Amino acid sequence: MSNNAELYEQSKLYAPGGVHTSIRNVNPMKVFTKGEGAYIYDADGKKYIDYQGAFGPIILGHSHPYVNRKVIEAIERTDLYGVGCTDLEVELARKICTHVPSSEQVLFCNSGSEATYHAIRLTRAITGRNKLIKFQGCYHGWHDYVARNMLSSWDMIGKRDPGSAGMLDEAIDNTLVCTFNDLDDIERTFRENKGQIASLIVEPIPHNIGCVMPQPGFLEGLRELCTAHGALLIFDEVITGFRHDIGGYQKVAGVTPDLTTMGKAMANGYPIAAVAGKREYMQRFNTYPGGDVWFAGTYNGHAVGTAASIATLEMMENEPVHEHIFRLGEKMRSGIRGIHERLGIEAYVAGFGSVWTTYFMKSEPKNYSDLQQNDAELYVDYRKKLIEKGIFKMPMNIKRNHISYSHTDQDVDTTLTIIESVLQELVHP
Ligand code: PMP
Repeated sequence: MSNNAELYEQSKLYAPGGVHTSIRNVNPMKVFTKGEGAYIYDADGKKYIDYQGAFGPIILGHSHPYVNRKVIEAIERTDLYGVGCTDLEVELARKICTHVPSSEQVLFCNSGSEATYHAIRLTRAITGRNKLIKFQGCYHGWHDYVARNMLSSWDMIGKRDPGSAGMLDEAIDNTLVCTFNDLDDIERTFRENKGQIASLIVEPIPHNIGCVMPQPGFLEGLRELCTAHGALLIFDEVITGFRHDIGGYQKVAGVTPDLTTMGKAMANGYPIAAVAGKREYMQRFNTYPGGDVWFAGTYNGHAVGTAASIATLEMMENEPVHEHIFRLGEKMRSGIRGIHERLGIEAYVAGFGSVWTTYFMKSEPKNYSDLQQNDAELYVDYRKKLIEKGIFKMPMNIKRNHISYSHTDQDVDTTLTIIESVLQELVHP
């Protein structure tokens, strides 16, 4: 028995399914024992070039020496107090408010789900309204406010589709589901629920379904509709934030939401997340004297996450992190397009910056429904075969890939050679 298989058997004894997040199972199962830069290693000693990037956080590379050193330095002198604030929190909050346009003030928590929960509850308090708009296909975390209509089966698109048993009916029914890139649908929803919608939450680029780009004018349209209907606009930048620009995708798009949620690439894989926004809104949280919206968490602002985030943002400030990952992203996308052309494969290579997704369909998807055109079977087989040949990307339908600052031109060249041989096998066996 391999070490992977043996450890997996053990893992299944002590954890249901052997994994600690619902979609971490890969077939065959991998147990990872080491991550270094662009590479990850399983318990059998096999090395992979990693594009999973832990679903997005790993923007500098695994176990990044500068980030690790800063974390170790921090925890040798400080940790967590449960009272007052820390020098690390002050420094990180200042950095975020300097870089992220919508961020006049910020609060730290531990995960993206916590951040979206806090942001949504805040909008209900501010507006005195109950309803929330989200988009079919977008993911904002595991809690009841948002865990509906994520990767719905095709017959459930736009219908009442809770993502979990045990959710509160009231929560499900107060979350309305619209179609991404369809301003008419959103306007109609606002009209039909006049005076009831507290906020609209959106991944400015829905990376939960690969890389579906907002069409020109869409994000601006959301901004206008929210303002016109007295609702708050929440950009969930848990993936796009810091990965696409140190100021988030809002900086790239030039559209400023009322509130922003952040996480993932904020700290290169260390656990920390944030909710940020206009001062007048943020001061409704009860961290502010007189604030009436509960905000708490034993581990909020822990030295590990705050030090890691400061170090990650320092790297972005001082080194050409985005220039590098954007250049390699473009090299990867154009390389893959060339392969498709040579092999006569009908596919659409989508992406932005360091992220790319190959859809096995003819044209650009504009929303979740369009992804019915994607050849899911080919997509999953393709990714499984890439793993066999040492390129790691989750073999799930419509998931994105991430390039980090540790990936090199050589890694991209190797990846392209392997992609070409895998596609050759799959489509011209
Ligand atoms: N929002 C978005 C856009 C996400 O991609 C995720 C995680 N994939 C979350 C929120 C939830 O973050 P977490 O898993 O840290 O709770």
